[in-house]
Amino acid sequence: MDLRDTPEEAAFRAQLRSWIGENLTDEIRRGRFEEAGRDWSRKLHEAGYAGLTWPKEYGGAGAPYSHQAIFLEEMARAEAPPHLGVIGLGMAGPTIIAHGTEEQKARHLEKILSTEEIWCQGFSEPGAGSDLSAVRTTARRENGHFVVDGQKVWSSFAHIADWCILVTRSDPESERHAGLTYLLVDMHAPGVEVRPLRQITGEAEFNEIFFTRVEVPVENVVAEIGGGWQVAMTTLLHERGTLGFALTAGLESQIRKLIALAKERGATPVQRDAIAREWIGLQAVRYTNYRSLTTLMKTGIPGPQGSGAKLWWSEANQRVTKLALELLGPEAQVLENGNYWQHQQLRSRGNTIEAGTSEILRNIIAERVLGLPRSR
Ligand SMILES: Cc1cc2nc3c(=O)[nH]c(=O)nc-3n(C[C@H](O)[C@H](O)[C@H](O)COP(=O)(O)OP(=O)(O)OC[C@H]3O[C@@H](n4cnc5c(N)ncnc54)[C@H](O)[C@@H]3O)c2cc1C
Repeated sequence: MDLRDTPEEAAFRAQLRSWIGENLTDEIRRGRFEEAGRDWSRKLHEAGYAGLTWPKEYGGAGAPYSHQAIFLEEMARAEAPPHLGVIGLGMAGPTIIAHGTEEQKARHLEKILSTEEIWCQGFSEPGAGSDLSAVRTTARRENGHFVVDGQKVWSSFAHIADWCILVTRSDPESERHAGLTYLLVDMHAPGVEVRPLRQITGEAEFNEIFFTRVEVPVENVVAEIGGGWQVAMTTLLHERGTLGFALTAGLESQIRKLIALAKERGATPVQRDAIAREWIGLQAVRYTNYRSLTTLMKTGIPGPQGSGAKLWWSEANQRVTKLALELLGPEAQVLENGNYWQHQQLRSRGNTIEAGTSEILRNIIAERVLGLPRSR
């Protein structure tokens, strides 16, 4: 792969940069995610930047994956807030495109792009996190629909979501990967209750969701009844697969801020060495991103290399923010004026848990990238 932009990619990047310059205000950058996010997401959609790689007939731009990579990179560089439909755009949409019926595509895809529908992901449960095959939320067939009962947890955006991608156990006799069914569930349906959970940062981004006799039409099953595992794997590959460029660009601006802080406050030789090591690691992970992009452009499916970028970014983010707190010294404890580095350090703790814990990602890299024997 040639790592430089083609003339056509360079033109897309230039046009995008000038659009960001004209449209991204400090108010949007600093605004509260839910309010500022809606306006910003609408602007992105109107300018044709939401769903760049999605088929044109469903409101996408039908652009190559390299454009998506450039888009993520430039947005992270400009510190633009993400599209409010993070889960719809990154997970639910690509899963519906890959496995959904024509009716499901026509009904949901355009609304995901325009933020008319906000989505959440109902995979994790109190007893099923890393091991998704332990899911116990049930979906029983009754008179032409499914009745869902159970509990999900850590569901980001569920408090503002209209729809949920839900993994359920539809065959009560089944175990592990068999007998799971993937449903599209209306979050406004009777019997759905959302309870926000407060994080260590003080924010409440994620939630518990309780389902009590929630009726879901059979038309909302994605792919086969009992074939939910394969569909869930598509969602998870997309969760980690396309994010690499955004994560690396985000990490780059974080390290640049760290360098500025080190220049301002002064750093010991050991701290300078640690900062240099972060910069070198960042350059290495950049090339892993290009490998992921090559797989994606050849096959249309994100490869397991995305796990490498997510693993590196999440651990580097914890090291970088910790270094910044060290440089700040006692000031790092002060809570006034929304201490940026303190907030980043606290939020970074969740990075090594969400979208696959570091241990799980290491297992994936060992088995599926390096071809080592299975751990169990
Ligand atoms: C900020 C945030 C947002 C999230 N958003 C969502 C969301 O929107 N939707 C959703 O469904 N979930 C979401 N999650 C949940 C997340 O996917 C789970 O927390 C994660 O999969 C881990 O599951 P668990 O918490 O049950 O931990 P467990 O799976 O119980 O793991 C506990 C510990 O054991 C280790 N471990 C487990 N299995 C193995 C193994 N085989 N080998 C080695 N070590 C192992 C883990 O690495 C971890 O350290 C979110 C989590 C966070 C932190």
